[in-house]
Amino acid sequence: MATDCLFCKIIAGQIPATVVYRDERVLAIRDIKPVAPTHVLLMPIRHINSIAEAEAGDSDLIGALHLAAINVAAQEGLTGGYRLVINVGRDGGQTVGHLHLHLLGGRGMHWPPG
Ligand code: AMP
Ligand code: ZN
Repeated sequence: MATDCLFCKIIAGQIPATVVYRDERVLAIRDIKPVAPTHVLLMPIRHINSIAEAEAGDSDLIGALHLAAINVAAQEGLTGGYRLVINVGRDGGQTVGHLHLHLLGGRGMHWPPG
């Protein structure tokens, strides 16, 4: 656990969050400022700063994160589709330095994104 990391604190139960899915490797919570009717954040339990810092040994974990997103999307009833987003670094708009995947759904998405 990274002691100064918001999401590590949520994973450790030190900061409350609405958990929608959890297994031994992945936690999924509702975003505190949703930008779509469904806005879930999926994160690895183990701290990784960013997808840019993932290594070859993390490939199973990154796969598990995506498979968990698919399961949560089904759980949320997003039969019309959804969007998965990973913001990376400053230009990518990443504000929390613990790898996470946004699951957005429940409305039509725009392209290109902002
Ligand atoms: P990003 O900008 O890609 O790093 O995404 C970080 C996300 O975390 C944003 O969508 C925030 O609204 C969300 N967020 C920040 N603090 C919390 C919190 N305490 N609980 C749930 N979501 C949060
Ligand atoms: Zn962390």
